[in-house]
Amino acid sequence: MTQSAIEITGLTKTYKGGRHEPVKHALKGIDLDIPAGSIFGLLGPNGAGKSTMINIMAGLVTKTSGNVRIWGFDQDTNPRQSRAAIGVMPQELNLDPFFTPRGALEVQAGLYGVPRAQRQSDEILEMIGLSDKAEAYARTLSGGMRRRLLLGKALVHAPRVLVLDEPTAGVDIELRQMLWTNIRKLNAEQGMTIILTTHYLEEAEEMCDQIAIINQGSLVVCDSTANLLGKMDAKCMMIDPSEPPSSLPQAPGIEVERRPDGTLALSYHARQTTAEDVLRAVREAGISIRDVKTEQADLEDVFLNLTRST
Ligand code: ADP
Ligand code: MG
Repeated sequence: MTQSAIEITGLTKTYKGGRHEPVKHALKGIDLDIPAGSIFGLLGPNGAGKSTMINIMAGLVTKTSGNVRIWGFDQDTNPRQSRAAIGVMPQELNLDPFFTPRGALEVQAGLYGVPRAQRQSDEILEMIGLSDKAEAYARTLSGGMRRRLLLGKALVHAPRVLVLDEPTAGVDIELRQMLWTNIRKLNAEQGMTIILTTHYLEEAEEMCDQIAIINQGSLVVCDSTANLLGKMDAKCMMIDPSEPPSSLPQAPGIEVERRPDGTLALSYHARQTTAEDVLRAVREAGISIRDVKTEQADLEDVFLNLTRST
């Protein structure tokens, strides 16, 4: 049985405009099902509505209409249970500068009604690498440390679902690695469902097993990462010939380009042409192959294809 961690139906959000601004339809009727146990990527260009959606799930922004169920609990009819099931690491650094990391975790645990005996502040500090800064004031922490503390705060009530809004935007490689290690661990060891937004497509491709793309407040696609990549049918085979070829391969559906370094780039569409067809055309042109590799479409291609403005 695959259970849903999040079920969203008909979700809309309209922001009132200012005095000289029109209203903004940030979400235009989203239906989305996020399976429990997944690492789910929510992608979309700037202004697509990702943060709005995440903040609605988290109970930080009021929706205009629609339904949101978190771990089976309807946000409107079971607000307490649905809130308890989700933890959010926000995009903005919103830490009280007068709290220490331990203090911030304790206050957050208090807000969620976690009894003292069940609090895990030490374990969380250890996990986010802030044990030795436990008593330092937040204002004295580096940007990276504050981000780690935000992750820690999202975890105090041991939520089933962890939501991270652009967790790695603008962070250095070391912190990014640390965040990913932690996120993978929470998913693998505790079965925590992870939902994240990122604009690093490579990161989403590597980390997420499911991906939804939203654009201008509408859902464009939602599928497994493997299926999304599989749908991209443009392929390219790179042939390194043993000797400079006297003639180029020719076959319907195959486009050949000779690169300055002598490589032959053969482009084809996997739906009509197989790799075997391409290799046959190469052999028939009398070319012997020293080396061959293929280039796959990546998520960037999928993304550009789906969000291209019309
Ligand atoms: P994303 O996170 O995908 O970049 P957002 O959810 O932040 O997108 O924003 C979606 C749209 O809603 C944008 O056009 C943004 O300008 C608008 N928006 C976001 N927050 C507010 C707000 N508080 N008031 C008015 N408009 C907003
Ligand atoms: Mg955002």
